[in-house]
Amino acid sequence: MGKSLKIVAAFAAVAFMAVSCGVVSFTGRKQMLLFSDSEIMALSDQSYAEFMSTATVSKDAAATKMVREVGTKMVAALESYLNKNGQSGALKGLNWEFKLVNSDQVNAFCMPSGKIVFYEGIMKYADTPDYIAVVMGHEMAHAIAKHGNERMSQQSVMNLIGSAAGEIIGEKKGAVAQNLFNIGFAVGSQAGVLLPYSRKHEYEADKIGMYIMDIAGYDVNAAPAFWEKMMDGKTAGKSDFLSTHPSDEKRIAALKEAIRTKPEL
Ligand SMILES: [Zn+2]
Repeated sequence: MGKSLKIVAAFAAVAFMAVSCGVVSFTGRKQMLLFSDSEIMALSDQSYAEFMSTATVSKDAAATKMVREVGTKMVAALESYLNKNGQSGALKGLNWEFKLVNSDQVNAFCMPSGKIVFYEGIMKYADTPDYIAVVMGHEMAHAIAKHGNERMSQQSVMNLIGSAAGEIIGEKKGAVAQNLFNIGFAVGSQAGVLLPYSRKHEYEADKIGMYIMDIAGYDVNAAPAFWEKMMDGKTAGKSDFLSTHPSDEKRIAALKEAIRTKPEL
């Protein structure tokens, strides 16, 4: 099949799928979502259960409590903010949970269903509630903005253009969704390697995360300070968090600019 024909086939296939055009809370950005919330949540819960079955929950009671308290406070503040602003549907299907696991890895992640996991290694940097709120807000933002679904959707269209048109539609769709999800959220595997988000998603998660910090009463200036701290730490040792959340001066500058221009929330 010629390239233009493949593209036509891709568009036809996309039209077949339940294409929905989402709008990201806070930024208003439009996004293409080819998978339903229920598909994403089911995959997410399955992958999270696999991860937790191999992980060891932290024995550090104080740090565990701090992670849970910050998460609970941020979710409560976000829910009340969205309800007040007529966007209560934005958190539909999300089932938040906050865990601290025993691992020296400097890492944290959030499943698309709202399951947030901190590794003990990141607590070296996230050693105050404000710093925890930076990581928490950023991770929550990936879930709220449906970055996982969007990334899978973009990838499935790319696959479609690059290969046989039938693969992502019809009965194979479930298997394809599973496959794409596993590539993006391979947290069940020992390596715990997560595919990095795109720069656009990272910037958006920084901004939304900072907004949630503000709504919940945390110091938003802790956000750029945290990333600077992480970058300093990177020279001292390996940070897995930075490999999935690439950080640099540009990103920190964008975050500072977002703070400067932040609307009253
Ligand atoms: Zn991120």
